[in-house]
Amino acid sequence: MKAPLHFGSLCVHDPKGKETTKPHQLPIYATSSFEFESIDQGIRIFEGKEKGHVYSRYGNPTIELVAEKIARLETYGLDIEAEGLMVSSGMSAISTLVLALLKPGDKILTQGNLYGGTTELFLKLFQPLGIELILTDLQQVEGVEKLLKEDANIRMIYFETPANPTLACVDMEALSGLAKKYGQITVADNTFCTPYLQQPMKFGTDFVIHSTTKYLNGHGNSIAGIIIGPKEGMQSKVWKAMKLAGTNCNPFDAWLVNNGLKTLELRMDRHSANAMAIAEFLEKQAAVESVNYCGLPSHADHQLAKKQMNGYGGMLSFELKGGLQSGIDFMNRIQLCTLAPTLGDVDTLILHPASMSHVNIDKELRLKNGITDGLIRLSVGIENVEDLIFDLQQAMEG
Ligand code: PLP
Repeated sequence: MKAPLHFGSLCVHDPKGKETTKPHQLPIYATSSFEFESIDQGIRIFEGKEKGHVYSRYGNPTIELVAEKIARLETYGLDIEAEGLMVSSGMSAISTLVLALLKPGDKILTQGNLYGGTTELFLKLFQPLGIELILTDLQQVEGVEKLLKEDANIRMIYFETPANPTLACVDMEALSGLAKKYGQITVADNTFCTPYLQQPMKFGTDFVIHSTTKYLNGHGNSIAGIIIGPKEGMQSKVWKAMKLAGTNCNPFDAWLVNNGLKTLELRMDRHSANAMAIAEFLEKQAAVESVNYCGLPSHADHQLAKKQMNGYGGMLSFELKGGLQSGIDFMNRIQLCTLAPTLGDVDTLILHPASMSHVNIDKELRLKNGITDGLIRLSVGIENVEDLIFDLQQAMEG
């Protein structure tokens, strides 16, 4: 006979046997650890002889389900067995992957126009640890091959395509082919496109990372990231690095990403259609010097984008005539678009890099990467496109 529990114990322990029918939506497993039915079961799970969870830093059912879903999307229609691992942010996806795959003495070969945070991470955290960064123009494939031939310490080619904010593209098939020839690992940041618009693995890229904070979530309400790669390397190296560095995602953020994923196809189609209409509108405006959008035949990398992408996405930038003041005046007159330093949300987000995200960057370096004084970046949302064009037009006319 069991002694009746006292008040304080009843507060602490949940009633047993309350399991119900299967929930329709993914539950949030807000638990740091998992109970074992017996010590024998605990031993079997710890030894990997029985499937089960132990501790949420090592793995959690909510997070794993979302990771598996994104890995399936990233390899959709491809004959590739990949695994996904969700982590705490896009930055954490990059740092976990580097910690897992590189060691002091290894070098990363990449482009100068990466997301600024990524360049800073490589330069300020990894370079002092002995992982050197080589910045080059990844569009110049012959130059890349020369570097690979000359330097056997290059271990990773890291790219973003299209890149921020000029939407310049790199040839993933050519770079991945070279990497295979010289025995390097390739990594693509596919945040701008999502697997709906581009699958880097289709072109031979080994690992794909995302800031799921952006389009995969789509609603601007969580910070998280994912690494997708070959099953073997993911389990033996990347999972271990995540577990030890503690860069795991949390179940609530993963759950929010899953909600966003349900409408990914619909959103990306609308983002792309709206961005195309806006790019075409901007190209006709007298106040606009130039428009950067991969979908425009006038874009320098349009043909490459056409080959690699299934649509051109929601990101574009344009150069206003009149320099810095014209950019600031334009931003001050905007009414519908949101002035916020992120991208990929359902609402249209607008940024003036010269006065906002790149205000502390050396002007010469900024200009070298196409971030001119009058450049405006738009993350085109899914609103009615006529309202967006009206807002841009009134800000320009003003
Ligand atoms: N990659 C790209 C292309 C980004 O734009 C960002 C953030 O803006 C990141 C990675 C970093 O993502 P997070 O902010 O989720 O760490």
